[in-house]
Amino acid sequence: MGGVMFIFVELMAIHITDDCINCGACEPECPNNAIYEGGVQWRYRDGTGLTGVIPLPNGLVLDADAPHPPISTEYYYIVPSKCTECMGFHEEPQCAAVCPVDCCLPDPDHRETPEQLLAKKAFLHDGAAPPADIQVYLEDLERI
Ligand code: SF4
Ligand code: SF4
Repeated sequence: MGGVMFIFVELMAIHITDDCINCGACEPECPNNAIYEGGVQWRYRDGTGLTGVIPLPNGLVLDADAPHPPISTEYYYIVPSKCTECMGFHEEPQCAAVCPVDCCLPDPDHRETPEQLLAKKAFLHDGAAPPADIQVYLEDLERI
């Protein structure tokens, strides 16, 4: 009998490619309200439990009510800081499941472990304290 084998799994946030046809099917499916129409400003508070100014372990603060510039003005886009790959809600990314042109794909620029994704979900929705390594995946803080 072999011993227990641990497998390190790395996941990635999902991003929308320029194959998007702007059908809007993905937006209401996201449990984190991480998907926005092109040209629309995004906020941490949209669809989450976050509100007001939240101090972070790294000395920065997050203003959940502050609007951020759109990541795309042409296509629907996903905010990496709000995407958890649907972990904690669903077994697979819901945006990818409904997209008619398969343009919701893993984003190689935003790699996170399942533990980080679940910690992000707990912070966004469940009142959990921000994790110590939060700056790894909340990268918009400099603009706040
Ligand atoms: S993978 Fe899930 S959490 Fe991430 S953008 Fe798509 S629907 Fe939202
Ligand atoms: S479902 Fe796909 S094609 Fe439609 S808006 Fe979302 S990413 Fe674009």
